[in-house]
Amino acid sequence: MKPPFDCRGADVLVAGLGRSGQAAARLLAARGAKVTGADEGKPEVGDLPRLAAVRLGEQGFPAAGRDLVVVSPGIPLAHPDLARARARGTLVVAEVELASWFVAAPICGVTGTNGKSTTTALAGEMLRAAGRRPFVGGNLGTPLCEAIGGDYDVLAVELSSFQLESIQTFRAGVAAFLNLTPDHLDRHGSLEGYAAAKARLFANQAADGVAVLNAADPHSARMAAAGPAARRWFGGDAERAAAADALPVEGGFTIGPPGSAGERYALRNRALRGAHNLENAMAAALCARALGAGPGAIQGALDTFPGLPHRLEWIRERGGVEWINDSKATNVESTAVALRAVAGPLWWIAGGRGKGAPYAPLRPLLAGRTRGALLVGEEAGTIDRELSDVVAPIHALTIEGAVRIAAERARGGETVLLSPACASYDQFANYGARGDHFRRLVRALP
Ligand code: ADP
Repeated sequence: MKPPFDCRGADVLVAGLGRSGQAAARLLAARGAKVTGADEGKPEVGDLPRLAAVRLGEQGFPAAGRDLVVVSPGIPLAHPDLARARARGTLVVAEVELASWFVAAPICGVTGTNGKSTTTALAGEMLRAAGRRPFVGGNLGTPLCEAIGGDYDVLAVELSSFQLESIQTFRAGVAAFLNLTPDHLDRHGSLEGYAAAKARLFANQAADGVAVLNAADPHSARMAAAGPAARRWFGGDAERAAAADALPVEGGFTIGPPGSAGERYALRNRALRGAHNLENAMAAALCARALGAGPGAIQGALDTFPGLPHRLEWIRERGGVEWINDSKATNVESTAVALRAVAGPLWWIAGGRGKGAPYAPLRPLLAGRTRGALLVGEEAGTIDRELSDVVAPIHALTIEGAVRIAAERARGGETVLLSPACASYDQFANYGARGDHFRRLVRALP
């Protein structure tokens, strides 16, 4: 495809120099643009100053008069400097939009509030099992700009609403919508604005594209109506089931035209436990199928998918006790998903930096089976106050303390689950550092 914009000699600002901003700046420099990179913080930028003018630690973005501005997901399109530039006719686009100008291979784009990373990685594995050479990245992992020039024949791309709000011509041959729940409303202003950002992915599809949609999510109708692509539905209640292309059955799911017996897939991989992962698996399978992967390849990937770190990550079994790292659960909703997915008696490690939401939704999921709630970090007191009548609170203070107590007290048949329902910033750099620490401690147990 011919890029809608000629980079050679163009004066381009890259706003935000995180990993995706740097990837965009390098790609633009390689294509002959005159690049300025700006970040209000002071990220590590390596040898970027050899390729571009780099401005770090200064407030605002010098966007005025540029030919193009590439905006990082962390910076709102509504930022006054960018809004002014747009008002004067400057093209302001996401890093994924820029990358898409140089992509010839088909794109499988995955969006939704939860499950994007898992579904994208799983779809990538299915395509790999089918003998394709997939790129897997985007919002998480490798930025799409880093895929340009690589030896890929299909691109599985995780897309956040922050990226989708500034796409223009970005086109996914296959696009999946998983779900939408209130999140990031500070940025999008409303659920409506958040849904509108996601709908851009579907609005840009062509009539020969495929839209993979969650029949159980009320926002799917809006995604379906946004563009002309063929629709493939997964899940949904009994009423909608008759019209769905992928449906849960005992031990797995089926794919087929609505009403037919279809292809049968088994879901028996520990890394894909839980009703939420059944949805992710159905979505990934519909995407892979639409891109030509066969049932054998899809089943193979379902069986061998290792899962992603910090998302219900199985660490080890020790004396009949299972240890699970779900550090990614930084809010009550994600912890509820984990508590539904893990059965049986439980030692629950929770706490960190609270987000102000009530813990009450966890009560029915904890009551009657939680042997102890090992509480850590700033939020321990609040969780204790809100849940002490359904779980026995134990103030473990730190992850070390929680691991030590759980290792002493847990008995065969029980599970120790770190699913904090809180951010990690009071004690760690991020949820990944917290989960890595937990995994190290658990592996080191004698
Ligand atoms: P994302 O990339 O969208 O953040 P992940 O695949 O990393 O999604 O999953 C993050 C968390 O979201 C998981 O730990 C789980 O708690 C929850 N989750 C995953 N898939 C779903 C889903 N389909 N529906 C609801 N919650 C989900």
